[in-house]
Amino acid sequence: MNIVEIIEKKRDKLELSKEEIEYFIDGYVKDEIKDYQISSLLMAIVLNGMDIEETTNLTNSMMNSGDVIDLSAIKGIKCDKHSTGGVGDKVTLVLAPLLASAGAKISKMSGRGLGHTGGTLDKLEAIPNFNVFLAKEKFIKQVNDIGIAIIGQTGNLVPADKKLYALRDVTGTVQSIPLIASSIMSKKLACGSDSVLLDVKVGEGAFMKDITEAEELARTMVAIGKNLNKDVKAILTDMNQPLGYAIGNTLEVIEAIDTLKGHGPADLREICLRLGSLMLMQAKITSNEEEGYKMLEENLNNGTAFNKFREMVIAQDGDVSYIDETAKFEKAKNIKEVKINKSGYLNKIHALSIGKLALELGAGRHTKEDDIDYSAGIIFTKKVNDYLNENDVVAYLHSNKEITGNMIGALKDAVEVSEESNKDTELIKEIIQ
Ligand code: URA
Repeated sequence: MNIVEIIEKKRDKLELSKEEIEYFIDGYVKDEIKDYQISSLLMAIVLNGMDIEETTNLTNSMMNSGDVIDLSAIKGIKCDKHSTGGVGDKVTLVLAPLLASAGAKISKMSGRGLGHTGGTLDKLEAIPNFNVFLAKEKFIKQVNDIGIAIIGQTGNLVPADKKLYALRDVTGTVQSIPLIASSIMSKKLACGSDSVLLDVKVGEGAFMKDITEAEELARTMVAIGKNLNKDVKAILTDMNQPLGYAIGNTLEVIEAIDTLKGHGPADLREICLRLGSLMLMQAKITSNEEEGYKMLEENLNNGTAFNKFREMVIAQDGDVSYIDETAKFEKAKNIKEVKINKSGYLNKIHALSIGKLALELGAGRHTKEDDIDYSAGIIFTKKVNDYLNENDVVAYLHSNKEITGNMIGALKDAVEVSEESNKDTELIKEIIQ
């Protein structure tokens, strides 16, 4: 086989065989095929696409380029969820213990945040002493004992994606459904779960800005799952405003705890209940969404879900006194209110600008090496369609850095107030299965 012929084939809009896909992934991981050749092939894929069979084969080859985790020592159906990334997205912190409280097995490997979206590991590490690095035996034992563990990725998972993603980033080849779908699915499937629920965020704070693109990505990923004999479903959810009121690591942990105690913002609670009711069906614990929804609602209201979160924090060496008394979390040195000198409905909160502002306040990383200020972030006092009177506070900025006029200006620019309410705020847009 020859890489030039493979590039020419894709250039000429022809389908690549399983063997050709395996050949270029394997050759690239071993450094036998050069960056400039793969760049050319990636651009041909961006322009000419891949059908679902090619995309499945690409996912499979990428998944097998490194370790594939064997979770067979965990009894029962192992469920996982993946979010394509959003602003204020603390769903895993609530959903994982909520599902475990209903008997599901949650063996979750999560990532860190980069850029304007946060990562579950950073949020968990905002809890003093919380350990995200468990040895595989301890990870498996914890899931068997208490039904839940959330850790960072270990081992050499999908090295092909690490190389390909870095190359795509600098060659204008990120935006391609087959490349995005295979990148996400190879990493998810390498983590060894039996079922996956994909939370595909749609809107300006998300990777997929547009519903048609988001649908196509979701359908592609569900089809890959089917072809590779995994139970994969997808749910399209709104990311036209941040989820909940809090953005930033500690602030989001506190909001998640509030939600686990049966309170919390309505949108966060609803998303967790809807995703959870689908995942309980995937775990074969319930047979329809309504049954699961009720069961999970009860567990939020009666403290069972919160207790499961406590159990996980204790098992992973976190200081549970912070969970019991969230006032103990260190606050940022500087907290500034932002007022809007206009009355009307809060018509928009531009999620992308808010994510970027949270990053500037210290809540995120520009590069993988940056440190995070756990206490930094933003707390909104209102959601889209709430009414604001003139000079109402719309948000508080938290940071250990000096909070500048530009930062306050950025917050003001990110919200729109008008006489009209916003009609396009549907939280759950579609379920694809
Ligand atoms: N997220 C991923 O993991 N991969 C992509 O290609 C895009 C978003």
